[in-house]
Amino acid sequence: MAGRYIDLHTHSTASDGTDTPAAVVGAAAKAGLAALALTDHDTVDGLDEAGEEADKAGLRFIRGIEIAVRDEAAEDELHIVGLWLRQPSAALRAYLAGLWEKRRERNMAMLQALALLGMPVAYDDIRAHAGGRAVGRPHIAKAMQEKGYVADVKEAFERYIGQGGAAFVARELDMPADGIGMLREEGATVLLAHPCLKTDMSRQRLDALLQEYKTYGLSGIEAYHSAHAPEQVRMCVELAAKHGLLLSGGSDYHGNNKPGIHLGVGKGKLRVPYLLLEKMIARRQQKGLWV
Ligand code: AMP
Ligand code: ZN
Ligand code: FE
Ligand code: FE
Repeated sequence: MAGRYIDLHTHSTASDGTDTPAAVVGAAAKAGLAALALTDHDTVDGLDEAGEEADKAGLRFIRGIEIAVRDEAAEDELHIVGLWLRQPSAALRAYLAGLWEKRRERNMAMLQALALLGMPVAYDDIRAHAGGRAVGRPHIAKAMQEKGYVADVKEAFERYIGQGGAAFVARELDMPADGIGMLREEGATVLLAHPCLKTDMSRQRLDALLQEYKTYGLSGIEAYHSAHAPEQVRMCVELAAKHGLLLSGGSDYHGNNKPGIHLGVGKGKLRVPYLLLEKMIARRQQKGLWV
């Protein structure tokens, strides 16, 4: 008999996915997944809708979020996933409002740069492509495509708004201690997301990073991810064992915004066993946290 599989990293229209939260849940149920986490960037706005739909579908649902923190070594960002959020505290709501404000400032700066390149885009045009308050580059890319400045989202990133692009502006990011600590305060299980998405992640760096992030409250590492090669999975699993960290996994599904990435199976070969969820649950119960 086939095992039971899960997906603990997905995005909806609440951030930069193209399926509504309810549709992500529906697709997960249809794919035969036993559990799903919705982990939209910088927002919890899709979680209530997804949770209600999951109850109807008989799917185990975990309320999640994905945030970005500063990666000092690489002048880049690293992603953190928090699972088992409850209704957000006042502190979390304030934190997220701060993230949206920083996004707005950064988006405005990129729109200014685009205007100077002769590609005017209004803020309302990008908001129109965003389902929620976590507005970002994928929505700018869609607006650019709509205006005929680029053929597709890929070209928008490669030429203009991707790192090194003519209109790229870096996002002001929080320190890892702050982002991880904030999710920890909310009682979330905190995971380092897709550590090997960036090809420059060496074993030595990841080792040091995990050692450091554990002191801030990191509980686990997303070893299984659509973009992780088998040797990268192995490295994550080995380092998780070394540091006593939990293992997680997910597809990073974004609907049509990331064509070729499917719920549960990623590019086709991803499988995240239910056992990982059971281990997370056991760890939370040991600590007296809700599950
Ligand atoms: P932002 O959070 O506004 O910086 O936008 C980041 C999001 O843009 C990521 O979560 C991806 O979904 C998307 N993205 C980043 N790079 C690319 C790329 N080269 N092509 C398409 N989408 C991208
Ligand atoms: Zn995304
Ligand atoms: Fe991510
Ligand atoms: Fe993601």
